[in-house]
Amino acid sequence: MKKNIFIILISTLFILMLIYLYDEKEDILNKEYRDYKNNISIDYPYFNNIVIDNYLNDYLEPFIEQGNDLIDLLFIDYDYEELDDRIELILYIYQEKDNVVQKEIRRMEFDVINSVVLENNKVVDVSVEYDIYKGQIIEEDQPMVALTFDDGPNHNTSRILDILEKYNVKGTFFILGTNIEGNEKIIKRMHELGMEIGNHMYSHKLLTKLEDDKITTEIKTVDKLIFDITNNNPTLIRPSYGTINKRIKSLMDRPIIIWNVDTLDWKYHNSKKIANRALKNIDDGDIILMHDIYRATANSLEIIIPKLLEDGYQLVTVSELLYYKEIDLEKGRVYSNAN
Ligand code: ZN
Repeated sequence: MKKNIFIILISTLFILMLIYLYDEKEDILNKEYRDYKNNISIDYPYFNNIVIDNYLNDYLEPFIEQGNDLIDLLFIDYDYEELDDRIELILYIYQEKDNVVQKEIRRMEFDVINSVVLENNKVVDVSVEYDIYKGQIIEEDQPMVALTFDDGPNHNTSRILDILEKYNVKGTFFILGTNIEGNEKIIKRMHELGMEIGNHMYSHKLLTKLEDDKITTEIKTVDKLIFDITNNNPTLIRPSYGTINKRIKSLMDRPIIIWNVDTLDWKYHNSKKIANRALKNIDDGDIILMHDIYRATANSLEIIIPKLLEDGYQLVTVSELLYYKEIDLEKGRVYSNAN
């Protein structure tokens, strides 16, 4: 008899626990919609009120249906407060198309007692659209140039990154394999700041004297070292010394980037002279060659960047420059500017 009571007691407790857990689950008033194919992710609350829930469903439906024609990525999240007589709901909407981001905050308010919508989908804030690579939108019809830095990184690279960050401009760094070890933090920062990282081969040898497989190995080694730090493969390459011939072109599995403005910073080691070279005859679409390993080069940027900005130039990465100038990229083809 005692044993039976014990079993009943345990069973009752177990059932109560199940009811408790079930109730807990019901309390989570959250719904989600995921469409991984179209990069849509929507989280929204569920209020168990037909008027409010229908209103919200109607509001979200066009977002779900737009697919990837209108957006590359959609992310919606929410925040709300459930008061005695009403619900205040905020929707955070993040949309991306062609690397341009739009953030929007919308507010809705519902009368729960009378089941009516009080405040109808009011815009609280729409952020200025900006390009995810540049941190601001690139004006396609305004002039732009690309600063490129070879042979780094070393300790001067950090100063260059400070200056680029200060002016909110971008540059492209063609990294040398032998300079990667010990400078991983600099490369990581470079990547996080939205700078472009290109491949400048491993050992800066004269490529005309290297056999095919040695050239390929040089490229692959640098790719792997950069990938290990940034989780990204460099999509552009600049051969050592900018050496190009038919054989080298055929070995390059991506676009080859050279330059049309040479600052001769390796020769001058004088910031004013370097700046003069960079600014003289500068034109829309130019690719400027510098070396981030020199102190004078870093100093020259404090002259070059403010002057270019003042003259209305946008300082973009090489990939951005070629993209916005609508230049088709082909492997093994040489690009010296975007004019
Ligand atoms: Zn070089």
